[in-house]
Amino acid sequence: MIPPGETIGILGGGQLGRMIAMAAAQLGYRCHIYAPEADSVAAEVSAAFTCAAWDDAAAMARFAADCAVVTYEFENVPVAPLAALGGVPLHPHPRALETAQDRLTEKRFVEGLGGRPAPYADVDGPQGLTAAIQAIGAPGIIKTRREGYDGKGQWRIVAPEDSGLNLPDQPLIYEGFIRFEAEFSILLCRGVDGDIRFWDTPQNVHEGGILARSTLPAPPVIQDHVAEARAIAAKVAEALGYVGVLTLEFFATADGPVFNEMAPRVHNSGHWTTEGAVTSQFENHVRAICGLPLGATGLAAAGVEMRNVIGDAAEDWAEILSDPCNHLHLYGKAAARPGRKMGHVTRLRLG
Ligand code: AMP
Repeated sequence: MIPPGETIGILGGGQLGRMIAMAAAQLGYRCHIYAPEADSVAAEVSAAFTCAAWDDAAAMARFAADCAVVTYEFENVPVAPLAALGGVPLHPHPRALETAQDRLTEKRFVEGLGGRPAPYADVDGPQGLTAAIQAIGAPGIIKTRREGYDGKGQWRIVAPEDSGLNLPDQPLIYEGFIRFEAEFSILLCRGVDGDIRFWDTPQNVHEGGILARSTLPAPPVIQDHVAEARAIAAKVAEALGYVGVLTLEFFATADGPVFNEMAPRVHNSGHWTTEGAVTSQFENHVRAICGLPLGATGLAAAGVEMRNVIGDAAEDWAEILSDPCNHLHLYGKAAARPGRKMGHVTRLRLG
């Protein structure tokens, strides 16, 4: 057990790290952020900051020497340089990073555990797209295997002749388009003792590939699939020897839950838990990686809605606060670029 007062290292300097650090501070821990970018919204609320490249082994070793445990808030942290952490515990295990960093590996892994992804084909590079469309059919989505997020690195294919796109010359994956009834995520936390707690399942609505809102309770069209999706998520957590918060995203379809992707970290579709659950995803992540008992995950209200504040919408903070029931979270980012997640608003329905 790592007692309060110790230092938690967080790899990655964005808003997820910021919210982990705030939950850690509540429990009496110090946080030390490691990130390559100098402007880190996580570092702003933390005790220490190492700004260095991922492959700077000397900086990584100095960082590790200050930490009792290390975690990550960003799933594209390169795995090889983490060897420089030496003997400091790293949770979740880096095999979760390796699995989730590559859409092909991730799909094969979840499929091997009984999950069902969209039909997919491995595409070596842009020249392989035509064959993939022939094999899987159109419509579909061509995605980069690595480094895509928030709808970036993916292109819709409406008809076979769309194969003339100007795609990047890198490994890709083509997925058949799923006609889903709704989207949802399974959020769980697994402790060092293997104890698993699930939060209630939100309905997630995406706009332009970016999460727009998460709503609870989810409608029956999602509830019907929760047990099956939870069973898959638990198998993933167990197979990875996972410690911390894990998220799996699914499509609800007439044929059952279709696995979309996993995130080995706290997740935007779990931001509602800060006010809407007995224990937030951030607090339980800290509890898990420090070996503390996990907190209860039940709903703290009759209903919850979390809306993302994206781009210029951050300028509407005064209007958002004019509703006394809104909880506004702003991440402290300087520039409000289009599509950039600037904050979120959570609203509880009490009765
Ligand atoms: P991703 O980054 O893979 O989670 O994709 C972002 C969003 O694009 C998803 O949440 C869906 O709304 C949509 N999407 C991605 N893949 C598919 C698919 N195979 N079929 C239908 N919609 C998809």
